[in-house]
Amino acid sequence: MVAYKTIELPIAWLRAIRIECEHCKLPYTYLHSKRNVFCEAGIPLISSDKSMREEIIRYSFKRIKKDSKKEKQGVGLCPHCRQYQNWMVEKSRTTRIRVGAIVGVISGFYLGVFSANLYAKNDDVLAIIVAITMAVVCCIIGWSIGSYNALNYGPYPVEFQDHGSMKDEEILELIKTSQDDNLNPLFAWHLAVGRKFFQKDMKITLGFTDEIGDLNLPHELKTEYLVDQFEESIQNKSLTEENKACPQ
Ligand SMILES: [Zn+2]
Repeated sequence: MVAYKTIELPIAWLRAIRIECEHCKLPYTYLHSKRNVFCEAGIPLISSDKSMREEIIRYSFKRIKKDSKKEKQGVGLCPHCRQYQNWMVEKSRTTRIRVGAIVGVISGFYLGVFSANLYAKNDDVLAIIVAITMAVVCCIIGWSIGSYNALNYGPYPVEFQDHGSMKDEEILELIKTSQDDNLNPLFAWHLAVGRKFFQKDMKITLGFTDEIGDLNLPHELKTEYLVDQFEESIQNKSLTEENKACPQ
């Protein structure tokens, strides 16, 4: 029997995405943050921790690079008309309702089996009816909870705050103040809106992706430039989990 050792590397990465709102046709930028935990298995004494970490960084970056090219990622309320994009709402509803319904069916079924064992021990038909009824009831409850927690179509009230989105002038101001304070604008934004990093996370910023392409952003903060930089660092093996992926 071969014993394996495993190493985990959690990576938190940020990207600010500028899009044109499909409702009011005005541009805005929203902060997309994601966290993945990547694992690598090795053989003790043969695989060094260093080489295993390098391997994780190499393949995790491939995945992050692929993700960074995808459109329709993340969620952000339009600060002009206070609406989410339809694709954001659809995605949120599909995911939450589906998860709610599946969790409901599973927990309802087990609850049903448990109840049937208690109250219908000698009646198989009744036991099956109880289990199925509980599964259906819990599925409906899960569906409703999922639906309640999902995003909604239409404008949100003024009291509803979403600091994860900014207008162009706010973005340019954020970049300027971050440069003055020698901070990375995306990390500053992420922390300012109360989002957190875990201590062990390797933090990566993929800068700004301007899907419209007409905002005057510094070259070194653009996603394409940063992706190339990371790729180069990985090839030179100069990118480690020691947070060098976090430009300040
Ligand atoms: Zn809008």
